[in-house]
Amino acid sequence: MKWIDYARPQTVAEAVQLLTERGDGARAMAGGTDLIVQLRVGRRQPDHVVDVKHIPDLNEVNTSGGGVTLGAAVPCHIIYNNDAIKDAFPALVDSASIIGGTQIQGRASIGGNLCNAAPSADAIPTLIALGATANVSGSTGERSVAIEDFCTGPGQNVLGADELLTSISIPAQGANSGARYQRFIPRNEMDIAVVGVGASVTLNNGSFESVRVSLASVAPTPLFVTEINDELAGKDVTDENIAKAGEIAKDAAKPISDMRGTADYRRHLCDVMTRRVLSDAITRARGGNVDAH
Ligand SMILES: Cc1cc2nc3c(=O)[nH]c(=O)nc-3n(C[C@H](O)[C@H](O)[C@H](O)COP(=O)(O)OP(=O)(O)OC[C@H]3O[C@@H](n4cnc5c(N)ncnc54)[C@H](O)[C@@H]3O)c2cc1C
Repeated sequence: MKWIDYARPQTVAEAVQLLTERGDGARAMAGGTDLIVQLRVGRRQPDHVVDVKHIPDLNEVNTSGGGVTLGAAVPCHIIYNNDAIKDAFPALVDSASIIGGTQIQGRASIGGNLCNAAPSADAIPTLIALGATANVSGSTGERSVAIEDFCTGPGQNVLGADELLTSISIPAQGANSGARYQRFIPRNEMDIAVVGVGASVTLNNGSFESVRVSLASVAPTPLFVTEINDELAGKDVTDENIAKAGEIAKDAAKPISDMRGTADYRRHLCDVMTRRVLSDAITRARGGNVDAH
């Protein structure tokens, strides 16, 4: 068995210092629901685990000003039990409440979901749809990265070895906005998305002012389909235009075939799921409710 040093810093500065000193040999850990599994099977082999879950700043939820800033280690159960988040960001609740089961949600963070950079991650399409940014601290200072630019490949992201994700900021969505995340899985729960779709819309009377759609499990990184906004912005909210969005999503997807579904099946699901998720986002933008999952 490989020896791994463990550190439990109490501040961001301490954590950054540890990551800087240890370089590529260190790995941050929040809930550990991805990392511990990866250590066990040898997929990641750090010499040093830096447990960031006990840093108070990384556990803060700030909902002032209509947006939300989520500390990078805030677990899913805190998110879906927060009234302000439930009210303003139900799509975030959609994601947080389907990641694993109750036990996993007690530890798993949205920050860890993002940093793990799985193509199938259930929180990332929602963050992209909501226009969120990742706030990062490193040895040379702080920076912010748009979520759509954060993942660079399966399991890879833009963070340098000395950098720590500290929080995720989601801007206020404004009036007449709504968002939704859904995934397709063959079982009822505890499965990896065959396809996931996050969408947000802002409506202006009967037309689309803006639309953001992101897809999971159909490319090496979560895919931001900007062409949907190019097509729909300024157009009427009609079944025909929603169907166009489905077609665009299907064409944008670059899926592989694996044991969960063929590439053709995934492309078909992109069409169906994008239409379904957009319709739900529109319902929410109009003040209506949609079924939980
Ligand atoms: C049984 C089970 C079911 C699951 N179901 C789902 C599911 O349905 N949907 C889904 O999307 N995922 C699922 N997962 C995966 C996992 O639970 C999620 O990705 C979770 O959100 C990871 O969060 P975490 O806090 O546990 O991350 P960790 O395991 O602590 O970290 C994940 C990765 O991010 C890095 N990291 C963590 N925090 C930081 C930070 N602040 N700065 C820099 N790097 C950091 C770590 O080094 C590691 O590489 C499941 C896992 C298990 C074990």
